Amino acid sequence: MSLSLIAQSITGSPTLGLNKKFAILKANGEPVIHLGGGEPKSKVPIDAINATIDHLKTREVRYTPVDGIPPLKNAIIEYTEEFYNRTVDAKDIMASGGAKQAIMIALQAILNPGEEVIFPAPYWVSYPEMVKLCGAKPVPAYSEDESFYPKLIDMTKNVNSKTKAVIINSPNNPTGAMYSEEFIAEIVEYCAKKDIYLIMDDIYHRLIFDGKKQINPYKFEKKLVEESKLIVINGVSKQFAMTGFRLGWAVANKKLIEAMTNIQGHQTSGPSVLSQKGAIGAIEGDQLNVETLRLTLEKNRNILVGLLNSLEGVKVTVPDGTFNCFANFNFYDKDSNRLSELLIDRAKVLTVPGTGFGLDGHLRISFCGSEADITEGIRRIKWALDRSSPDEINIGEKILVRDWV
Ligand code: PLP
Repeated sequence: MSLSLIAQSITGSPTLGLNKKFAILKANGEPVIHLGGGEPKSKVPIDAINATIDHLKTREVRYTPVDGIPPLKNAIIEYTEEFYNRTVDAKDIMASGGAKQAIMIALQAILNPGEEVIFPAPYWVSYPEMVKLCGAKPVPAYSEDESFYPKLIDMTKNVNSKTKAVIINSPNNPTGAMYSEEFIAEIVEYCAKKDIYLIMDDIYHRLIFDGKKQINPYKFEKKLVEESKLIVINGVSKQFAMTGFRLGWAVANKKLIEAMTNIQGHQTSGPSVLSQKGAIGAIEGDQLNVETLRLTLEKNRNILVGLLNSLEGVKVTVPDGTFNCFANFNFYDKDSNRLSELLIDRAKVLTVPGTGFGLDGHLRISFCGSEADITEGIRRIKWALDRSSPDEINIGEKILVRDWV
């Protein structure tokens, strides 16, 4: 079979093999625990469900305008006013099949083969692959101080004539780190000065803890939306626990949105009308769901961090937001793929190796699941890694027996 060079350059999801193993173990009745989840477990807001059902009942489920239906655009205009203090026009918005598709199409609209895109490492697994899909070059930026909080110099040292865009995701997947207002101000101003596109992936912007306030990139953008190369990405997946609706959006200047809409028109057409109606219900409905989810995640974060800190040698950067913690397990194994395999084999716990996020020696442990799973999962990890562990532990109806020295 002959595949394109681009197809050959793309790597699959880092969790694919592990998820397969997890599914087999589960099917065999093993009491496995998934600490690798990428979506909140709370219910979809009832306002979203009702709006979707109401539309379904019309029995008119049709194509929509490629860039989204007017009422969704109105909801996004209000959202942008509320959270970004920016008045945008309907023509500055494109709704898409998830934030992921909005980012992908933005990259397709701006990148030429050979151009470069810089983003802080550790990074969301899809950024390098999306950039490669455009024939361009991903350039991860590692912090000199090895922290999860990049400085401007970490980002700018790789800027050259081929640099076309920067992607910032704060709070960040996988680290949960929320970058400082000072950093966001600097990067917005730097990109504007250098005429580089800046994609702000704000998908987690409402899931932040410790009384932190959302940071609004527009605050530091002096140009009007139409002259600006700032692209703000958002969606309903995380904040409203609506991952299955596949609805996200981009806000940017009209010319870029028009180009993106042309691309989307040939790729997928507009997102499903049902998802758009659901998104309107969520955005315009009761916001208590978001706050309840945020509080649950903050509580889970505290439990997870407390437990991880009790593991000898494990180093934790406390997540400021999201539902992921990116813990340093170098003390046990510098090879995170091997460590992750070991944990699923020995402890029946799924964690995600750091390699896919650009940093080995780390495991991404998610706290979007239940408190019981987090507590039990870390108890088992501790047992599997600690040399002084007892030979056996009880896991529900089963007993795990130590078969290593
Ligand atoms: N951006 C980041 C950083 C993510 O972690 C994810 C999902 O995991 C997305 C974007 C994609 O979100 P959506 O489900 O809206 O496509």
